[in-house]
Amino acid sequence: MSKTCAWCHKPTEIFDVFAPDIPILDWMEEKIIDYCKKNNINKELLWGDKSNWENLELDEEIEAELLVYDELIETISRKTICEECLKEDDKLWRKYYNVDDFDEEFEFDINDLN
Ligand SMILES: [Zn+2]
Repeated sequence: MSKTCAWCHKPTEIFDVFAPDIPILDWMEEKIIDYCKKNNINKELLWGDKSNWENLELDEEIEAELLVYDELIETISRKTICEECLKEDDKLWRKYYNVDDFDEEFEFDINDLN
């Protein structure tokens, strides 16, 4: 009996893995970056481990979306994910969360270290 991928619902033979309810959503990540740019917000404050909304005046819409997105990607359980989805997710994790990839957002961090 073949299993189906919990994310894309295609049949797959891969082992079960511990994975969030949803993969990283490219459009959501772009939306977060976009929102930060438009509202002149440091992305770290809006999204991630160090986020702190206390002093941010967020639109209700983005706030609701972030809460849902956060809950879905933080909810880890054992499920079947196909190789394609795992690769794509890995790529997006690196793209959006890998601090080793220096880009202009990390310039300040580099200067602080000197
Ligand atoms: Zn899949």
